[in-house]
Amino acid sequence: MTAPNPTAAHPRRFRLQARGALQDARLRQALDRARGGFVAKRAHAVAGRPDFEALTAAAAQIKDDALERMEDHLQRFESQVIARGGHVHHAADAQAAREAVLEICRSRGAHRVTKGKSMVGEEVGLNQALEGAGLEVTETDLGEYIIQLAGETPSHIIAPAVHKTREQISELFAQHHGTPPRGEVAELVDEARSVLRERYLQADVGITGANFLVAETGTAVLVTNEGNGDLTASLPNVHVVITGIDKVVPTFQETCTLLRVLARSATGQELTSYTSFFTGPAAEADGEGPTDYHVILVDNGRRAIRDSEFRSMLRCIRCGACMNHCPVYASVGGHAYGWVYPGPMGSVLTPLMLGLDQAPDLPRACTLNGRCGSVCPVQIPLPDLLRRLRERQYEGGIVSVRYRWGTRLWGAVARRPWLYRPLAALGARLLGWAGGARGRVRRLPGAGGWVAARDLPTPTCGGTFMARWRRGERP
Ligand code: SF4
Repeated sequence: MTAPNPTAAHPRRFRLQARGALQDARLRQALDRARGGFVAKRAHAVAGRPDFEALTAAAAQIKDDALERMEDHLQRFESQVIARGGHVHHAADAQAAREAVLEICRSRGAHRVTKGKSMVGEEVGLNQALEGAGLEVTETDLGEYIIQLAGETPSHIIAPAVHKTREQISELFAQHHGTPPRGEVAELVDEARSVLRERYLQADVGITGANFLVAETGTAVLVTNEGNGDLTASLPNVHVVITGIDKVVPTFQETCTLLRVLARSATGQELTSYTSFFTGPAAEADGEGPTDYHVILVDNGRRAIRDSEFRSMLRCIRCGACMNHCPVYASVGGHAYGWVYPGPMGSVLTPLMLGLDQAPDLPRACTLNGRCGSVCPVQIPLPDLLRRLRERQYEGGIVSVRYRWGTRLWGAVARRPWLYRPLAALGARLLGWAGGARGRVRRLPGAGGWVAARDLPTPTCGGTFMARWRRGERP
């Protein structure tokens, strides 16, 4: 169904990859720096919009309605694109998507391609296909450009190189550009800009993604903060948009609501620096711009998700807030998840797209703390979806004997409050005793994973949560 991951990472090897990530001090340093910024900026943006909760409810409803009538909206979108001189291609799976783009490049005699950030492009393995066919591909988003030089995949859906420190990027540029190492971020940005400017001018085809597709006008909407999307789309003669069918919304008005929650949730901005609208090839009156315009609409399992109990996952507008607030992502980074989509949204999407047997650990790579669901701008009940996937695993026998019996035992205790309460109180006391004066547990027989990479804080005095709740204490 989907392209193989070009690196050795795979969702099946999550545990191994997570263990490796936990031992990578540089990665932890880079993740800590970036995460704090994302969380604080979102909190500030949301605080400045008292109706944010209502806005997210409206956004969720818009996406649900759009998914309900997705086929009608796609038809309308397609007829509008065609009416304006563009072409629409339907790709049932990753291979069809790759072939559609390759055919466009071949038929136009293209040699050089520039490409804006596209998670669907990553999903279908587009770069590998283009390079395999002898095309020179240049990623134009700064983060994507960095990881392209490093030969890696993105580790975050809006900040692909979030796992890299400034020092690592400086080394990488020096190695590939033959320039001296730079100490300042602005110098590194300038250096990348001067390299990329040349590539824009040389490109035969420009490929971008799309955040939304507006059915009423046939417009592909793209948000960026670097302006690279505009240059990628408008300088070559051919512009190809590759995107998922789930991006379609009926009107501009609804798109505006989604844009409002997207930017605030992703980068804490009211609106991204660039919001670009592409509606067909350049008209004669434009004087310049691509004369050839194509949209590749990729299914790759999306219709099956829409028709399942996991439909709400297709509301996702790829803001990244769930991973920015996830303690698991914060500890292991995106590569540990082994595929294109990391963090909580990836822990749901990856098993749905690749199969539960291909990503057995992802639904369990979660503490069910609920933060992802509470920050999602389209109110996707991520913890519920993860729980449902766990149920499917359990019912389908895709769990170890130890897990199965452990769950049964836990269920038997949790259903009997007269047994659960004293056992929980005893557990809290034992943990307190094990932590001693340090207040932290470093060894936990039978549950070593909880303390393998960090110390577990012991419960503070006052007994179990239930006991404190009964006493009227509230967080
Ligand atoms: S699941 Fe929600 S929070 Fe996560 S990326 Fe998608 S829209 Fe954003």
